Amino acid sequence: MNQETVIDEVRRMLEQSRRVVIFTGAGVSTESGIPDFRSPGGIWTKYQPIDFREFISSEESRRETWRRKIAVDEAVSQAQPNRGHRAISHLVAQGKVSSVITQNIDGLHQRSGIPEEKIIELHGNGTYAACLECAQRYELGDLFAAFKAHEEPPVCECGGFIKSATISFGQPMPVEAMRRAQAESLSCDLFIAIGSSLVVYPAASFPAVAKQNGSRLVILNREPTDLDYLADLVLNLEIGPTLGNVTGVE
Ligand code: NAD
Repeated sequence: MNQETVIDEVRRMLEQSRRVVIFTGAGVSTESGIPDFRSPGGIWTKYQPIDFREFISSEESRRETWRRKIAVDEAVSQAQPNRGHRAISHLVAQGKVSSVITQNIDGLHQRSGIPEEKIIELHGNGTYAACLECAQRYELGDLFAAFKAHEEPPVCECGGFIKSATISFGQPMPVEAMRRAQAESLSCDLFIAIGSSLVVYPAASFPAVAKQNGSRLVILNREPTDLDYLADLVLNLEIGPTLGNVTGVE
């Protein structure tokens, strides 16, 4: 299929569907200047991830986590939603998309105008921090200033460790977000996975849950993914221009 035919096919599938779920990964935000994990030059080529157990057990790991957090945030905090985010927001506003399930932690779907209640964050949100004991929310600017002054990993008034409100490897998945994502995947008739290598589990289980329950599955990703064999349509294309063409959004 040439590119125009593929775009027409996605439009047709959207028209034929009554309930669409959009599932996004780091690839949606690369056009905003936020590197993904697995492409060349991605975050993993620079840093080995710090496991949640290491964060809990070692003050030096907590210090290193906060050093990295500051370095990454200085590089990406100016990021703005891109054409792909805007196109997804447009589809949500049209009323067919029941939810956007995201692995991203950058808050750019919210910033593109999608209502908070339509977004399911599987891996948390890196735009703020929280106490691991009492869940008290903390703003990053205050924490960064204090950390830069004395390099002490932040601790809550209750004594709990403060951590970016993201889900690290080894950390339990958020129960309510997982429950909602499962329910949405079971009740859609079109599931579109965008910008994810579909190798991080349990997040990557949702496209298969949807497909096995009778939904159609579309995968839009620059590279092949592990779940292409399940898909009704695979688009190895760039996200912004492709979704822009599908929706007419600039
Ligand atoms: P991933 O890095 O494993 O996969 C991203 C995929 O997107 C790659 O296969 C790549 O080929 C594709 N891609 C990148 N830019 C693209 C573009 N412009 N057009 C089309 N395809 C493009 O990411 P993942 O599957 O989301 O898993 C990594 C984990 O890292 C996630 O769990 C997420 O929580 C976290 N993460 C989040 C962010 C963010 O919030 N923006 C950034 C990096 C990592």
